[in-house]
Amino acid sequence: MLRMNSMNCHAAGLISRPAAGFWTNSRVHSILAWSTLCMAMAGFGPYAAAQAATLATSHPESLAAHPSNAQLADPKIEARVDHLLRQMTLEEKIGQLVQYNDTGDAATPAAQPAAKKPGALAAVNPATANRVNAMQLATAGQLGSMLNTIGAERTNTYQRLAVEKSRLHIPLLFGADVIHGFRTIYPVPLGLAASFDPQLVAAVSHMAAEEASTAGVRWFYSPMVDISRDPRWGRTVEGAGEDPYLGAAMARAYIRGYQGDDLSQPGSVAASVKHFAAYGAAEAGREYNTTDMSEIRLRQVYLPPYQAAIKAGAATIMSAFNSLNGVPCTANPLLLSKILRGEWGFNGFVVSDYTAVMELINHGIALDPASATRKAITAGVDVDMMSHFYDTQLPALIRSGQVPMSVVDEAVRRVLRVKFATGLFEHPYAEGVEVTAAVAAHRPLVRKAAEESFVLLQNDKLAGGESLLPLSPAHRRVALIGPLAGDAEQMIGAWGGAGADRDTVTLRQALTDRAQQAGGTLLYAKGTEIDDPSQAGFPAAVQAAQAADVVILALGESSAMSGEGGSRAHLDLPGNQQQLLEAVAATGKPVVLLVFSGRPLVLDWASKHVAAIMAVWFPGTEAGNALASVLYGEVSPSGKLPMSFPRAVGQEPLYYNQFPTGRPPTGIDLFKPPTGQERFFSRYIDVPNSALFPYGYGLSYSSFAYRDVKVSRSSIPLPQALANRSTPLVEATATVINTGDRSATEVVQCYVRNLGASIEQPVRSLKGFERVTLAPGESKQVSFPLGFNELSFFNLESSPTIEATRYTVWIGGSSLASQEAAFEVLSPARKADFH
Ligand code: BGC
Repeated sequence: MLRMNSMNCHAAGLISRPAAGFWTNSRVHSILAWSTLCMAMAGFGPYAAAQAATLATSHPESLAAHPSNAQLADPKIEARVDHLLRQMTLEEKIGQLVQYNDTGDAATPAAQPAAKKPGALAAVNPATANRVNAMQLATAGQLGSMLNTIGAERTNTYQRLAVEKSRLHIPLLFGADVIHGFRTIYPVPLGLAASFDPQLVAAVSHMAAEEASTAGVRWFYSPMVDISRDPRWGRTVEGAGEDPYLGAAMARAYIRGYQGDDLSQPGSVAASVKHFAAYGAAEAGREYNTTDMSEIRLRQVYLPPYQAAIKAGAATIMSAFNSLNGVPCTANPLLLSKILRGEWGFNGFVVSDYTAVMELINHGIALDPASATRKAITAGVDVDMMSHFYDTQLPALIRSGQVPMSVVDEAVRRVLRVKFATGLFEHPYAEGVEVTAAVAAHRPLVRKAAEESFVLLQNDKLAGGESLLPLSPAHRRVALIGPLAGDAEQMIGAWGGAGADRDTVTLRQALTDRAQQAGGTLLYAKGTEIDDPSQAGFPAAVQAAQAADVVILALGESSAMSGEGGSRAHLDLPGNQQQLLEAVAATGKPVVLLVFSGRPLVLDWASKHVAAIMAVWFPGTEAGNALASVLYGEVSPSGKLPMSFPRAVGQEPLYYNQFPTGRPPTGIDLFKPPTGQERFFSRYIDVPNSALFPYGYGLSYSSFAYRDVKVSRSSIPLPQALANRSTPLVEATATVINTGDRSATEVVQCYVRNLGASIEQPVRSLKGFERVTLAPGESKQVSFPLGFNELSFFNLESSPTIEATRYTVWIGGSSLASQEAAFEVLSPARKADFH
């Protein structure tokens, strides 16, 4: 059985995680065209239906120059799809467009039909009514896919019904939330992003695909590529953080890992990029909340990771729960039809998020199941996950002509293409030896992933002049304190797949093993629970600290405090962990604070009172071993922050690539309240604007210096910049030197700013990064090619362009990199440098 999202948990009658291990939670067009289209589509009149039909039947993907996935465009597959489609009844076609959740019995619950009063739907729990017999549907050929059917035996049972009993023998596609591992669990995606290592991400993703496919799961609801700039949003944990460039790099890596070069290979799974689109911009960080933004921001900040995933060939995409500029994403033709299929040439299928079609009623843009269904399918949602609307509503909608048959046919084609491409018709059943526990041979890889995910935020020098970390043999007596030190379940993270606690190595376990092998004493005290007011455990914790040479404090969130439905208004350590931290720090012993979390937390107090702090996210199956190897210096930390850590929650949303203002507080000491004119700047009166730990920041046990930041030319003629969209226009270089006394890895980062454009541009934006491993004293020149993609921005027509402007380039070890070079793009009227 798998861990589940919160809805699935309810559907299964499971609110908390059972011991068996379920998922615990869990381009060119004008602004005018944008709003007109959205408004028309949101209406109920015949105009809207006609326009929807035109959009949907014109096959927008065929208008795009290149289909996004070549395998899905294979004429041989198309011929098979045509052949099959000609034989299908309406019910069989609609069946391919519905998906149910496997709850562990034959009768699978589906969503309740619409209540008379739209408001009443708010409380709908899909488990309460309308039980759907998924087995019967599979036998009748009226089921296309399932979610959370895990295990070879169970997937094969359903598959046999579909393949052997149904009239046309069309196999089912089994999907699951395999987000950071199936059985062998690697760090949560935010932690993985901190590695700035796309190759690693591709490797672990491929590993998960290999494991899950042995259980019959050939479709992952991953990667989640939503940009998140507000850590109050719990799903921050599932993505790559605040930056679109890193987000896009990570998105490509996941797709490469999951799908490989050939979807039909046994260890490949189809990816579902989610949640389209801009879900991460939920107002106030509150889950499922509204998003509203300019089209420029949408295209420049939020869309790039989805586009990168589609360009990399993602076979499917999931429409988001949220509304975007007033139009719910699950009924949004601009997103689903125009941009996704028209501009990006997406030729896979779109699945709704869980009951998102039904939720169109709560959004207030549909009055009943029929209009919700019509709006979703004509906007471009091909598969209805769990709303139980497509199967109940589409027959009448087609008979009445409100939904053209061609729309259904096209949706069915898209689904069948993926089924043919994944080789399901030839190999419908789980094959090979089923992976039912963490795989020993995969442990080194997930351990490396965990080690690369840790971000050393602080490592002060102690009285002897040495930094506290790494720990040395002189630290004979180690006090390990905190609720996260020995809790295997928490190590697995928000979407721990089918990972098991018994397979997971905690820090307590790893340090106990070390003490046994290498000598020394480990003094353990839990101190407190993750979220509990009791201080009963404080005295023992303080006592352990007093008796030790060094204290390791394992504090932070539970894995359930982030992920779906895990929004928080406070970003402090939960419960009374701050008090425990203060009590332990008061002993005067050197403290290493390990922060387990699915988001940036406010660590202001700790940064002033604790010598060493490391963000360790939720590291996965090999958590303890990875932490121990970094604490003891066998591996030097190399992670960098994929999100800014604030000083106070009131700074959120806080992100480095912000727009400038007319009143930047340049030269003012923002640590002091303003006096006189110091007030009238873009600032707070009670906290500096800056992050406590900025984007891209992270320490190492060595140190690095940068020199010779240069660009290959000082100017580029504008016509050349505009004409050349595929090769670099300028190269930025720098030399990075390991100035410390040990070999270590640095993530070299390249940031760009564009001044003088017709549209305000961010104060700086990441445009390149590279992991570089250097021996002590060794140096390396690192180059970043900058072409149209890196230098362009979206103009008022929402078109990517380059204007005659000035560029500054910084190369360094964080978003605060200070060494710079500059070049210009020159208008034809000005003298150009053609070197
Ligand atoms: C989540 C998705 C997930 C789906 C299926 C939804 O509640 O938003 O991310 O893939 O459930 O479990």
